[in-house]
Amino acid sequence: MFRSFRPSLRESDLAYGICSSHDIFTSKIGNSLEKFSLTFAKNWVFLNHWAKNVCIKERRFDFLLFPRGAQCISDVSFQMSRIMTEDFPRVGFIGLGLMGRPMASNIMRKGHRVTVFNRSKGAIDELVAKGANSASSPMEVAKESDIVIDMVTDAPDVQDVILGKGGVIEASHKGLIVLDMSTNSPDVATAVSSVLIKKGVEFLDAPVTGGDKGAREGTLTIMVGGKKEVFEKCLPIFQCMGKEIVYMGDTGSGQATKLCNQVAVSLHTLATCESLLLGKATGLKLDSLLKVLTSGAASSWNLANLGPKIFSRDFEPGFKAAHLHKDLKYVMRLTETHKLALPGSGIVYQLFNSVLAENYGEKGTQVLARILEKLSEREIK
Ligand code: NAP
Repeated sequence: MFRSFRPSLRESDLAYGICSSHDIFTSKIGNSLEKFSLTFAKNWVFLNHWAKNVCIKERRFDFLLFPRGAQCISDVSFQMSRIMTEDFPRVGFIGLGLMGRPMASNIMRKGHRVTVFNRSKGAIDELVAKGANSASSPMEVAKESDIVIDMVTDAPDVQDVILGKGGVIEASHKGLIVLDMSTNSPDVATAVSSVLIKKGVEFLDAPVTGGDKGAREGTLTIMVGGKKEVFEKCLPIFQCMGKEIVYMGDTGSGQATKLCNQVAVSLHTLATCESLLLGKATGLKLDSLLKVLTSGAASSWNLANLGPKIFSRDFEPGFKAAHLHKDLKYVMRLTETHKLALPGSGIVYQLFNSVLAENYGEKGTQVLARILEKLSEREIK
């Protein structure tokens, strides 16, 4: 059956809604309102311009929901930015921060119906304006979804939105899959998964790397732990958000991979800050120095992306310092569990304690430079 159509007009001149047989679209063209009808015949959807004598070069619908198996032809030149089909799984997204917002947008852009929830309301409005449905709790999200993604801050937040009161678990239903894409620890993945599985809900831990830039551009690297067959089912959703998607093994191995990643990221951050500080002290031109460092053996994502921010004094977050501190906390726990010596990570963890002591937790990780500047009594600029 076709879903009901809720026509609506938006300031951006877009007609949007979910279409059904013989409904009429109204779209604003310049200052006038134009009407379009839809005709369904077998598996075809015909878009008919209401006043056929008016030539329209290009119309753009925000989204159309096509019935299963439908194809579309139109007698005028329509550009549909999002064609949603009932064959696509419905996706729920919880946590619309720096990462979650663009990740959810990219899933919508690929034609999925997305239902969103965030603790603070501003981010919800932004996604709803792009065509998402809003929900009043994680439980409501799960009711409306086949796959629920969470992208919240830390382990207690994951447990809260998935297993807590009003959480996803309260709307467990057959076939539901939960993807935790935030960064925490392998133990948490195993614990959450074992509770969900008793309710017949599948779980994958699927943290990401690539920063807010990768989230916006849909080029994240995604590392996934859990059942292989569940991973394969979810691959098309991961592909909406990322480029390199790697199955790592059993539940928890996605988070274990991410913590290995964070060991390297944190040491690269320290290396970036230290080399720029030495460059400054020896009187080098910082942009020339950065050119050399990023084109040879010293190069790293951190140097290329955070280096310019440090000497232009831009400490706004792509990745918050408090989050790297959290990740290093989990790395330190693993060193205890496995009796490992990771001295470099230990040093950066201590330095990030100082970052938090200076109240820089909400700044980007490049703010580590400020701690080294304080210790050395000079600024990198
Ligand atoms: P963020 O900007 O701080 O966003 C976190 C989001 O989670 C916010 O929308 C927050 O809601 C929501 N949230 C937190 N606790 C919640 C709770 N208990 N209940 C409901 N909502 C809750 O963080 P982010 O940068 O997007 O990072 C999210 C996760 O991805 C973190 O685990 C981080 O380590 C990881 N990560 C980040 C990056 C990056 O470059 N930023 C890269 C890779 C991985 P409010 O808006 O109400 O605060």
